[in-house]
Amino acid sequence: MSGTGLFSHLGLTVVHFLFDKLPFFSMRLPKMPRILKAKFIRSKLASARLLGGLVRNSLTFKIKRRALRRFRTREFDTVIVDMDGTLFSTDANLEALSMLYPEANAEGRAAGEDLYDSIISKIASGEYTIERAIVEGNKFLIAKKMSRQDFSSILAKVEPTIKKKLVGALKSMKASGKKLVLATLSSKDFGDVLNSHLKEKYSLGFDFVVGTKLRFDQGGLISGLESIVGTKDFEFEGIPVRSKLTAIREAMAQSGAWLDINKSLLITDSYGDIDLAKTLVTVLIRPKSPSVAQKVSYRLKLADYILKDDKDLQTNLESIILGSEK
Ligand SMILES: [Mg+2]
Repeated sequence: MSGTGLFSHLGLTVVHFLFDKLPFFSMRLPKMPRILKAKFIRSKLASARLLGGLVRNSLTFKIKRRALRRFRTREFDTVIVDMDGTLFSTDANLEALSMLYPEANAEGRAAGEDLYDSIISKIASGEYTIERAIVEGNKFLIAKKMSRQDFSSILAKVEPTIKKKLVGALKSMKASGKKLVLATLSSKDFGDVLNSHLKEKYSLGFDFVVGTKLRFDQGGLISGLESIVGTKDFEFEGIPVRSKLTAIREAMAQSGAWLDINKSLLITDSYGDIDLAKTLVTVLIRPKSPSVAQKVSYRLKLADYILKDDKDLQTNLESIILGSEK
């Protein structure tokens, strides 16, 4: 992963994985030996179970949203932005693993990509929770002695994929007094590096950066995890875990700020953020070449607004969020 150690938009990639395996996407089973076939079917079953969860989740989403509608205001004071796949197109975790494990496999892909895929597969099969995946993914970074200094190489990979129209819209929001929060399951430490870069190059600064905190040794090498931003509030192997919503609330509270969910808006790229999206007005950005998971998100209409990542993105975001203020 990127300088992050975390597998942020796991959610989406999981569905990506699922859909590769689902019957209606691969209309017929490829010819394969009997044992493999049994394994294949088992994995399809696991995928179907996960998909069932997603559909249930999307129903809950729609019911909750309907109830929410009457409280909705168009006056937002806080804008929460997802990182991987939203603020930039790539995934920091994938970039970090590819950088640390560059050896090419038979298809010419970096070994790091295979590592990333294997972790995602384990989530899809139910072997790993998101939190376990974050811990295990981080071990791959530690094994290669990844350090704080390596964040700049990840930033170099990520930079060309930063969504400039989104950056432009966020600058307008900040100028009209909105608080901006960058919230990711990926590394907060990388998020901070990215935020400094955004300030320097685009004059855009997030007020809060929320994400999984890495632990570093005295030489600056990653040595573990301080805390995780995951799926719920609990403890995993002695590491405190907070949901994105709780983590945002806690970060804001530390500087005396208060998150009013009725005045907050989420900008994301996929239902990976569905739990947050149930509570907040949500804008889904639909990329030019979406992953399957991203496609699922907009087909299920898991958002209040679905915007294409095109030349009008900045104008559209500004008209939703700033509305009559402009
Ligand atoms: Mg994302």
